[in-house]
Amino acid sequence: MLYTAGNVAGSLTPEDVLLHATRSTRVWTPQEEFDSTNRYVANGAAGLGWNATAGPGVAAIHSSPYQWAWNARQASWRYYAIEIAQANLGDPIDDETVRTVAWLIKTEALRGNPKMGLRLPTHAEIDGVETGAFDGKTDPYPKNEIANADALRARIRAALAALG
Ligand SMILES: [Zn+2]
Repeated sequence: MLYTAGNVAGSLTPEDVLLHATRSTRVWTPQEEFDSTNRYVANGAAGLGWNATAGPGVAAIHSSPYQWAWNARQASWRYYAIEIAQANLGDPIDDETVRTVAWLIKTEALRGNPKMGLRLPTHAEIDGVETGAFDGKTDPYPKNEIANADALRARIRAALAALG
């Protein structure tokens, strides 16, 4: 686990976990994508921020579960935000990365609000619905790929249950 301090914009009581994907668009392994995202955070992330980045068997925490930063416009202050290392739309999200997401939810997100929901919305799903403006987000899966998003959520929930 790494700690790379990210931007913070205010206080958070997360109502759920928001799933993002990093999407550098480079041809990179999940580990390379994770490392690149971590460097992006260390270099300021253009003013954006999120709570943690999940890679294959590796997590980077950027802020506490009691802090929010700008990652989804007006929905930013409602969610514990996780960036999943996925360089391109359609790149597979491996089991090690799914386990990292589950670990972050168990050890970090739920600390911020033990009663939070685990609907696990994606950025694409709340884009233009909760954010206040439509940005055409497709992370981690486009809005019309609900089955893929549901499959990812099922894998995260199974990994969470396995953690006990
Ligand atoms: Zn996003």
